[in-house]
Amino acid sequence: MVTYEAFLVRLAEVRSRMNAACAAAGRDPATVALLAVTKTHPVAAAEFAWRAGLAAVGENRVQEAEAKRPAGPAGLRWELIGHLQSNKAGAAARAFDRIQSVDSEKLAGRLARAAAEAGRVLPVLLQVNAGRDPAKSGCEPEDAARLLDAALAEPSLRVEGLMTIAPLGAEPAETADLARRTFEALRGLRDDLAAARGVALPELSMGMSGDLEAAVAAGSTCVRVGSALFGAR
Ligand SMILES: *Cc1c(COP(=O)(O)O)cnc(C)c1O
Repeated sequence: MVTYEAFLVRLAEVRSRMNAACAAAGRDPATVALLAVTKTHPVAAAEFAWRAGLAAVGENRVQEAEAKRPAGPAGLRWELIGHLQSNKAGAAARAFDRIQSVDSEKLAGRLARAAAEAGRVLPVLLQVNAGRDPAKSGCEPEDAARLLDAALAEPSLRVEGLMTIAPLGAEPAETADLARRTFEALRGLRDDLAAARGVALPELSMGMSGDLEAAVAAGSTCVRVGSALFGAR
């Protein structure tokens, strides 16, 4: 884990990459949020993010967030970006401000029940395996409409958009090509679903340390960046 000073240098580098990608795509940088991925790092990583003005951090495990969040900055938002088992839905609905990894109707139902019991509306993204990577979670693209309908039917969920993780290729050029195709596929799917169901789905969470430029080019509204900010895990 890097020092705060080193983190600030890395943050400036990430911001400049995001700004350059926005400029190349003719997009306003204010339309792309930076989610600092603090998984596996101590709670100091969340403090760094907050001190530098970031609004939210991403974690991939419920237990880790439950342990870190009470020790972290009070106003910081915590988002789940990792696979969630249905039996942990209640704990996840309590520990997170938004869940980006909703990938089944069963999970959507469990989260909805937990949110309703807590008297709140839980913001969610639907995770789609837009790159058809056998190693990745997320619903298959052809199942996304059914998952969306199930989530939209739950008054205690607010479906804000879609999330995906691009597959890795065998070498850098293939990885870059897969990333571009995956992000364009997610954006196309979002456009189709939004039109078919008459809903907005404004959020497209896509792009990480290695592929954020391709994600911004394809319309990402939230890049999830870990190692480029905090160093290798
Ligand atoms: C770990 C993780 C990230 C961040 O990855 P980096 O390559 O470290 O930027 C982004 N999204 C998800 C879903 C992750 O699990």
